[in-house]
Amino acid sequence: MRDIHHFIDGQSFTGASGRFSDVFNPNTGEVQARVQLSSEGEVDKAVQSAARAFEEWSQVNPQRRARVMFEFKRLVERDMNQLAELLSSEHGKVIADAKGDIQRGLEVIEFSCGAPHALKGEYTFGAGPGIDVYSMRQPLGVCAGITPFNFPAMIPMWMFGTAIVSGNTFVLKPSERDPSVPVKLAELFMEAGAPKGVLNVVHGDKTAVDAILTHPLIQAASFVGSSDIAHYVYSTGTAHGKRVQAFGGAKNHGIVLPDADMTQTVKDLAGAAFGSAGERCMALPVVVPVGQKTADELRERLVAEIATLRVGVSTDPDAHYGPVVTAAHKARVTGWIDKAIEEGSELVVDGRGFQLQGHEKGFFIGPTLLDKVNTGMESYKEEIFGPVLQIVRAETFEEAVSLPSKHQYGNGVAIFTRDGRAARDFATRVHVGMVGINVPIPVPVAYHTFGGWKRSGFGDINQHGMEGVRFWTKTKTVTARWPESDLEGGAPQDSAFIIPTMA
Ligand code: NAD
Repeated sequence: MRDIHHFIDGQSFTGASGRFSDVFNPNTGEVQARVQLSSEGEVDKAVQSAARAFEEWSQVNPQRRARVMFEFKRLVERDMNQLAELLSSEHGKVIADAKGDIQRGLEVIEFSCGAPHALKGEYTFGAGPGIDVYSMRQPLGVCAGITPFNFPAMIPMWMFGTAIVSGNTFVLKPSERDPSVPVKLAELFMEAGAPKGVLNVVHGDKTAVDAILTHPLIQAASFVGSSDIAHYVYSTGTAHGKRVQAFGGAKNHGIVLPDADMTQTVKDLAGAAFGSAGERCMALPVVVPVGQKTADELRERLVAEIATLRVGVSTDPDAHYGPVVTAAHKARVTGWIDKAIEEGSELVVDGRGFQLQGHEKGFFIGPTLLDKVNTGMESYKEEIFGPVLQIVRAETFEEAVSLPSKHQYGNGVAIFTRDGRAARDFATRVHVGMVGINVPIPVPVAYHTFGGWKRSGFGDINQHGMEGVRFWTKTKTVTARWPESDLEGGAPQDSAFIIPTMA
C-alpha cells in the first residue's frame, strides 16, 4: 500500500503518529493509498520550519518573491496533465474539470506575480508642516491554510499564493481525502526556487487542525470547508489570537424569470447542478422558477437535458461528471434524497440506483431531480453536495428574491433573465455574497475577491484579490517629520500637550 507523506522543511517527511486515513479511487471504490495523519508534534515541526524560513523569506524583495511565483506557474503548466490525472484519480472529477481546478488556482498565482504593485503602500507628502505619512504592508509571519476535498489544487493555491508572495511562510493542511496534489504543488514550489520551509504540507484530521489553531507561532489561518467546522475554526482560532477567515457550506439558488432564454438556462443549470457531481460550493442545487408556466416548462426541459447526461469514470473524456469522493459521501447524498422524498418532494428523476457497468463498486450517483420542494424541508435547508437539483416554485419575483436572502447560507446565487432592470434590482437586494446574472457559477476572477455571507463565511475579509493581500498582511503607518529647526539651526518647537490635529 502506498503511503502519502507530509512535506516539511523542503522534503518529504515520514510521520510517526501511527495514524492513517484511507485514500480511495472513487471510480473503483478501492483503497489506493493511505495518508499519514499528523500528531501535534509533527505540526509543530512544520511550524518551526516555517518560522525559520520566515526570517529570510520576509526580507526577500517582492519582485524576487514574484519571480518564484512566475516559475511555479510555469512548472505547474508543464506538469498539468499528470497533476490533473492524479487529482482526478483521488477526487473523481473528470480530467477536464481537474484541469479547471488547477487553472483557477493558477489564476491567483498569476495575480500574486503582481505583488510588487499590490504590496505598495500609500504616501502623503506634506500631511502637515514638514510632515509626510506613509504606510507599508508587512507580512504576518507563519500562516496556515486548511482546505476541503472538493478543490484540492485551487483552494490551496488561493491561500498560499497570496500569503507567500506577501512575505509569509506557510503550513498547509489539505483534505485527507485527496492529499496527493497539494504535496506535488509543494514539491514544485521548491523546484521553482522557494527556500525550504516556505511551504510545508501536513496531513491530518482534527488533531492537526487543533494544533494549527492553538499554535502560538501561527499568526493567521484561512479555512474552507463545511459550516459547522468553519465556525469551530473561526471561534477557536480567534480565541487563540489569530486572524481567521473561515468559509463554509452553501445552498446556491438559480432564479429563473419567465423571460429567461430557456434553452441556454437549462444548459447552464445542468452544468452547474451536476458538474463535478455537484461537489462545488458554487454549484446550483436549487432552481427557483417564477410562475407556474415557467416551472412546468423548465421541469420538462430539465428532464430532457438530464437524459443526455453521461456519468462515467473520471478518465472518460465524454463523461459530464464522475463519481463522488467516498462511499460515505455517496451514502450521505442518497440519504438526503430519501429524506427529501419522505418530506414530500416529488421525485422526478432518481439517480440513487445508478450503476456503471464494470465499475459497480465506484461511488457513482445518477443525476437526480426533485420538484415541489418547499422551505420547511430539511433537505432544502441543508447542503446536499451531490448531483441533486431541487425545484422550489415561486409565485412572484419578490418571493424569488426572498428565498436565497432568507436561507442560512449565502455563498452564491444566479438569476436568469433578459430584463436588465430586474437583474440589477435582484443583485442589489439579495442577501448573498456572490451573484451571477445569466452566469450560473459566479466565482469571481482572481483579481476580484471570493466570499460568501451568513453561514457561508465567518470573518470579515474575503479570499484572493486585494482582500487576500489585506488578509495576509498587516498595515503599518509611519508619520515622519524632519523639523526645519534641525536643518537651519532654529529653535526647537515647544512641547505639545494637546492632541495634534490638522486644524
Ligand atoms: P470538511 O469541513 O469536512 O473538511 C474541511 C477541512 O476540515 C479538511 O481539511 C478536514 O480535514 C478538516 N476537518 C474535518 N473534520 C474536522 C474537525 N472535526 N475539526 C477540525 N477540522 C476538521 O469539508 P469537505 O467535505 O472537505 O468539503 C466540502 C465542504 O466545503 C462543503 O460544505 C462545501 O460547501 C465547502 N466548501 C466551501 C467553499 C467556500 O468557499 N465557501 C469552497 C469549497 C468547499
